[in-house]
Amino acid sequence: MTKDLYEILGVSESVSSDDLRKAYRALAKENHPDANPDDTAAEERFKRISDAYDILGNPEKREQYDLMRKGGHDPFSGGGGGEGFGDLSDILRSMFGGGGGGGRQPGRRASQIEIEIPFVTAAKGGTVHKLIRLPVTCSQCGGAGGSGRETCVSCGGAGRISSGQGFFSTMHPCANCGGRGYTLKTKCSLCHGTGEIQSSEKVALRIPPGAGDGTTLRVSVSGRPVHVRLRVKKDRFFKRQGRDLLCSVTVTAAQAVLGTALMIRTLDGKVKLKIKPGTQPNTVLRMRGKGVSHNGVIGDQLVTVVVKLPVELTDETKSLWIKLKETNS
Ligand SMILES: [Zn+2]
Ligand SMILES: [Zn+2]
Repeated sequence: MTKDLYEILGVSESVSSDDLRKAYRALAKENHPDANPDDTAAEERFKRISDAYDILGNPEKREQYDLMRKGGHDPFSGGGGGEGFGDLSDILRSMFGGGGGGGRQPGRRASQIEIEIPFVTAAKGGTVHKLIRLPVTCSQCGGAGGSGRETCVSCGGAGRISSGQGFFSTMHPCANCGGRGYTLKTKCSLCHGTGEIQSSEKVALRIPPGAGDGTTLRVSVSGRPVHVRLRVKKDRFFKRQGRDLLCSVTVTAAQAVLGTALMIRTLDGKVKLKIKPGTQPNTVLRMRGKGVSHNGVIGDQLVTVVVKLPVELTDETKSLWIKLKETNS
C-alpha cells in the first residue's frame, strides 16, 4: 500500500489545487462509509484519502510535505531512505500533531520526565527516591477502553468529520468518538474509556557522582522504560566548574593581613583552611582533591578569598586606621 500522499489521491505532484479537490471528491464519494456499509477496506481507504487531502489541500501543509518528500532524507521512515515514508498516521502525527485518528499507545515509547536533585547529591552521587507518575495501558481493559467497539456513527470510522459549507469542506476531529473512529458500548470502569491509567511507583534513582544538568538515567516504571533527566538545584555556597568546585569566603582586612584559619564547607563536611598572613584580595586557594569525582578523576575545591573593608568606623577603629595610614604600610 502506497504511503505517498499524491499517489493516495491518484494525482501528480504538480496537480493544481482545483484538480486536487476534484480528485479528492471523486475518491471520497466512492469510498465513503455511507456508500460502502460494512466494508472495512473502503473505510480504511476513506480515512487515508481524508488524511492525504487534509495535508495536500492545505497550501502550507502541502509545502511542508513537498519539502520533506523532495529532501530525500525522511525523518519518519526510521532510516534506510528510499523506502518512502513511514506509516501515514505517523507522518501526520509528527508533522502536525494529532491526526491520523489512531488510538494512543502508551506502552510503546519511552517517556521522559525531569526531576530536581540537590547539588551535593549530584556532585557526590547517591540514591534519590522519587515517586514517578506515568500514564500506562489500563490493566483492566488492556488499553481498549471498554468493550463492544462499534464504528462511530458520526464519522463512519474516519475519526474526523467535515464541517462548513457542504460535504467537502475542512475536516475536524470527530466529537462523537474523540477522533478514534469508534465508540464503546461499555466503557471500562477503571480508565473510563481512555485506555490509560495513572501508575505511580516509588523508584530508587542511583545518581552517578559528578552528575550534571541534563544527565539522563534510564529506569523502568511499571515495566515501562522511562528516561529521567536530572536538573541540579543551585547551591548557595558551591558552584561547579567541571570537576572543580568554586566557592568564596570573606575575611576582614586584619585577617587577610595577619593570617587566620577558617572552617570551610566541603562535600565531605567542614575542613580547616589556612589563610596565610598577607593574603591579597581575590586570591584563589586550592583545596586539592576536594572537588567532584567523575570517571575516576577527582577535582579540587577553589576558594576565592574576598576581603571585606569596613564601611563604618567607630572613633576607636578610625584612630587605628589613621595610625596605620601614618605608618604608610
Ligand atoms: Zn480500562
Ligand atoms: Zn467519530
